[in-house]
Amino acid sequence: MAEVISKPAPKAATKFIPLCVPHISGNEWEYVKECLDTGWVSSVGSYVNRFERMTADYVGTKHAVAAVSGTAALHAALLVAGVEPDDEVLVSSLSFIAPANAVRYCGAWPVFVDVDDYWQMDHRLVAEFLETKCSSSQGTLVNKETGRRVRAILPVHILGHPVDIDPILELARQYNLVVIEDATESLGAVYKDRKVGRLGDIACFSFNGNKLITTGGGGMIVTDNDEWAARAKYLTTQAKDDEIEYVHGTVGYNYRLTNMQAALGCAQLEQISEFIEKKRTIAQRYEDAVRSVPGLTPMPHAAWADPVFWLYTILVDEAKYGEDSRALMRRLAQNNIQARPLWQPLHRSPAHATAQSCGGEVTDRLNRMALSLPCSVGLEPYELESVIEVISRAHG
Ligand SMILES: *Cc1c(COP(=O)(O)O)cnc(C)c1O
Repeated sequence: MAEVISKPAPKAATKFIPLCVPHISGNEWEYVKECLDTGWVSSVGSYVNRFERMTADYVGTKHAVAAVSGTAALHAALLVAGVEPDDEVLVSSLSFIAPANAVRYCGAWPVFVDVDDYWQMDHRLVAEFLETKCSSSQGTLVNKETGRRVRAILPVHILGHPVDIDPILELARQYNLVVIEDATESLGAVYKDRKVGRLGDIACFSFNGNKLITTGGGGMIVTDNDEWAARAKYLTTQAKDDEIEYVHGTVGYNYRLTNMQAALGCAQLEQISEFIEKKRTIAQRYEDAVRSVPGLTPMPHAAWADPVFWLYTILVDEAKYGEDSRALMRRLAQNNIQARPLWQPLHRSPAHATAQSCGGEVTDRLNRMALSLPCSVGLEPYELESVIEVISRAHG
């Protein structure tokens, strides 16, 4: 009698599948243990210098200055770039809130700019704002509505995809503005043939636990500008003029990264190529699966971009899919799978209620439709398949 072999049921996601968690698989233990063994655990030490050097070399900038978080890095970068109280800074409207908050820490004001087909700051809206809403008086660009000086543009490379930045750099040159890149979500991503972080005048990275590489928490400022790098180091380390006599030249900040965190960072950065490779493999599998599901579309990527797919994100068209993004999120949660919508549009944030904005409809639509899916570097193939199984299930 022929034996009946039944196909095993697909493995259910019995174990919780988180959105995006750290992957610790290299020299982390060894380097951190060395800090513990030698007592070099605090805010100076060879790992801080080494992590700074490694990051600068990786990104392709002359300098890197470590900071305690990506948000602190952004604050310090805005300060060294000359952003002053009552200045205005153009910020992408589709972003985690940190860059807008950092602008406020300086006493300056964000102006939100809607995003383009690739979900990144739309340079056409930047041009329109500068041309029609501003006027130049004695070499200073002034927002006609608020009377404030416009000082900088802060594009955010979201979700591992670069901003179309060349037209923004051109506008910045034309209007004498500084470009500060928020590259916190896109370490390793390439715009044309340049890595993000060396595209503008100064840039920031984050090593928070959910980012591509982590130090537990941490950040980095990168720039080619010698003076700005020195100033960033000075401001992030309490603005000390005399270490013995405790003389401080200005109001500085304790924004230092510890040696232990930097040790973790060195070990993580050693593995970044593998991490990116893994992210791309996950993204490719999702993309293939999602394309065959009516009502779901993958995040688009530009021909000129080499994204790192930090958080893999899809759009859910309720009419075609039979369920909206939040309902799909809840259904994934019932299956022990974590998914998350994108951030509240910054032009709708109660924290920035008085800010001006240019457009916002695209950000609003993406906020309604987008859902980020599990994409940790350590995501197991069977876990990936259980997510795909849930999102592929028919509705109607
Ligand atoms: C993560 C992130 C930051 C900074 O994060 P920290 O948690 O302060 O390190 C800044 N901007 C964006 C867009 C981010 O996603």
